[in-house]
Amino acid sequence: MKDSVGSWIYEPKFEKMPRERLVELQEERLRKIVRFCYERIPSYKRKFKDAGITPDDVRTLDDLEKIPFTTKEDLRKAYPYGTLAMDIGEVLELHASSGTTGHPTTCAYTKGDLGVWSKVMARIYASAGTRKHDIVQNAYGYGLFTGGLGFHYGALEIGATVLPIASGNTERQIRLAKEYGTTILACTPSYAAYIGEYAREKMGIDPTKELRWKSGLFGAEVWSEELRLRIQELLGLEAFDIYGLSEVIGPGVSVECPEHNGLHIYVDHFLPEIVNPVTGQKLEEGKTGELVLTTLTREATPVLRFRTGDMTSLTTEECSCQRTIARMSRILGRADDMFKVRGVKMWPTTLEHALLLVAGASQNYQIILERPERLDIMTVQVEPEKKIFERVSGDLSQLQDLSLEIVESIRSVTGIKANVVLVPCNSLPRFEGKARRIKDLRKDVAF
Ligand SMILES: [Zn+2]
Repeated sequence: MKDSVGSWIYEPKFEKMPRERLVELQEERLRKIVRFCYERIPSYKRKFKDAGITPDDVRTLDDLEKIPFTTKEDLRKAYPYGTLAMDIGEVLELHASSGTTGHPTTCAYTKGDLGVWSKVMARIYASAGTRKHDIVQNAYGYGLFTGGLGFHYGALEIGATVLPIASGNTERQIRLAKEYGTTILACTPSYAAYIGEYAREKMGIDPTKELRWKSGLFGAEVWSEELRLRIQELLGLEAFDIYGLSEVIGPGVSVECPEHNGLHIYVDHFLPEIVNPVTGQKLEEGKTGELVLTTLTREATPVLRFRTGDMTSLTTEECSCQRTIARMSRILGRADDMFKVRGVKMWPTTLEHALLLVAGASQNYQIILERPERLDIMTVQVEPEKKIFERVSGDLSQLQDLSLEIVESIRSVTGIKANVVLVPCNSLPRFEGKARRIKDLRKDVAF
């Protein structure tokens, strides 16, 4: 699949900038944003005072560690306007992240912020080979969720045509894809897989033959490399993992290049660090930990050392696509989605990886954790692939070998023997938004 979509670099001046020059640029921007936050946002001034530092103490990237972290809780407390560094008259757009566990967080954009957002999203589209003549089917939700508008602005910036269909109404997604000949699909990976199954099963359409999608930009969820490969097969496109978060900008922080060896981060705008999620100590390159981001160019709602909660690692090793900017590995999971079974750390993606190594197992699964006595029991419900399910006419008892193979794969990936229960196709909940896979029924889970 390499280079099959004709990937290109939208802002080579930054994406291919020599390393030393890039560090100079980051440090220059860091000094500026630190002073800006200190002078404009009272909570930062307080934090600096409590830590006994002033903006003059932050001169180089090595000084970054002196700055206290910003947490999601800090942003919630400052809701609605406490994080704003600009007069509301300068703000053109307001987004509020979902507030399921308390207040939402505010993400505001000035004209300059919208410009940066459009440009980083254009870089993402270019990395996936999008050009002027492409038609982007934007199946991310439009509204307060930043996915829809982020992908919309990027498509406009690059000069492509955008179909703002938003998420849901799968039948119409497939019909319009066929009738308009859309070439780029943007949505969550679980929805992409769902569209692929729906087209085949409910509409008799083979997307690899009847649709013109050449690449897909999938994000806002944690997913595995194996699922990426499976979506490519289902939809006949090249799938790219993209990453971003509303507290920082929305989608637009990083994306895979056609090498699919990690996601290039736009480090001229978003300064990354990896820290130990428990101690907060900075980890060296290559080590897995929690991603921390500092916005170097945001105006309305800048953040310094924001704890993303996402687990990944960083590398500055050269990539054959010629970009000099650092890469992060695919997100392993949320620091708080990590679960332990009999002391072994894992994320839902760990299971997804194990399942998709087995031919005949689908990406539709649910994990149930119980502790009836003292030992954790992990049950994994898995739907077999449709064609396998049909071959045995829905009689799951004929698929003993498949469940044994899944048990073995989970054991070799995690070291844990799980109960595997095959369930009929389409019996597990499908997700059109963010997927949640674990049901933890244990009472006293110790982390
Ligand atoms: Zn690359």
